[in-house]
Amino acid sequence: MGFFDKLKLSRLKEGLTKTRESIRENISKISQGRTEIDEEFLEELENILIAADVGVETTLSIVDRITERAEKETYRSEDELNRMLMQVMEQMLLDTCASHPVDFEAELPAKPYIILVAGVNGVGKTTSIAKLAYNYNKAGKEVIIAAADTFRAAAVEQLRIWADRAGVPMVSQGQNADPASVVFDAVSSAVARDADVVLVDTAGRLHSKIHLMKELGKIMRVAKKKVPEAPHEVLLVLDGTTGQNAVTQAREFTKCVHVTGLIVTKLDGTAKGGIVLSISRELELPVKYIGVGEKIDDLQMFDRGKFVEALLRSDK
Ligand code: GDP
Ligand code: GDP
Ligand code: MG
Repeated sequence: MGFFDKLKLSRLKEGLTKTRESIRENISKISQGRTEIDEEFLEELENILIAADVGVETTLSIVDRITERAEKETYRSEDELNRMLMQVMEQMLLDTCASHPVDFEAELPAKPYIILVAGVNGVGKTTSIAKLAYNYNKAGKEVIIAAADTFRAAAVEQLRIWADRAGVPMVSQGQNADPASVVFDAVSSAVARDADVVLVDTAGRLHSKIHLMKELGKIMRVAKKKVPEAPHEVLLVLDGTTGQNAVTQAREFTKCVHVTGLIVTKLDGTAKGGIVLSISRELELPVKYIGVGEKIDDLQMFDRGKFVEALLRSDK
């Protein structure tokens, strides 16, 4: 592992500290003085995983697989159990979500590459856009941000501050402007400047599903006038601290919009980071990025193996 990979993993582990400590502490409690996996152990393990918001369905499959393995293998130590748990969880993710961690450095399939970012208020859309802009920019790509959340007074200003921090230009028409018109301008500007990426911030009102659908639909239609394949990606942002509610929210969204991937934020602020495992499984959508803090470099490409490692392996 290279230096930067190690750095990233340690940041991820730092972000997942709460979840990891909660899982490990509880597992070590139930494995004390145990030499085999029995009913009681499995039941308690089930409770631990559900408490970490791994999700009932996912937890049951994990416990099933562990039962299967426990019948064949002997368990001698807590470390062995952890290793087995990790293998099982990793396998679960391999089976359910095809993750294609594309590096920010990698060549994009289209130019400009248009990414629409959606999600309800407060989940971290604007922050995630800033983080994406920062990463693409750092990778040498020309980025334009479209301030298409024109609903809230502070939204455009907040985005401008982030765009400055990321060092990328932002296209806006101020509050109450037609979001579709902002996107049209941003995409036109990207085409004219031969920019690489357009990141579209959107409003997150979900109180009226019809309104939301209409607004996002209109944004997409207008973007297509300039770039027929747009948007190339629709990333749905979910707040990891809301646990199973995030799954419900995502279900609602995917009914309205063709979501291509997920960003799960605020994993640093919760002991329920296991939500990432259940989200990708239950929604059959790839988690592409995760947010592990409020700073501009606190976004990571989601990598199953690393995530499971950060979730379960302590440094001791
Ligand atoms: P939006 O309404 O969806 O655009 O959400 P914002 O981007 O404005 O974020 C709402 C709040 O969540 C802000 O206070 C952010 O700092 C915070 N936030 C976003 N992502 C993360 C994250 O990964 N970790 C933490 N701890 N906070 C985050
Ligand atoms: P409709 O509202 O469903 O008829 O969708 P349109 O395709 O007519 O466009 C909707 C919105 O997109 C318009 O109100 C404009 O704000 C914006 N739009 C469409 N075409 C253009 C254009 O050529 N320039 C600009 N600036 N905005 C455009
Ligand atoms: Mg916002």
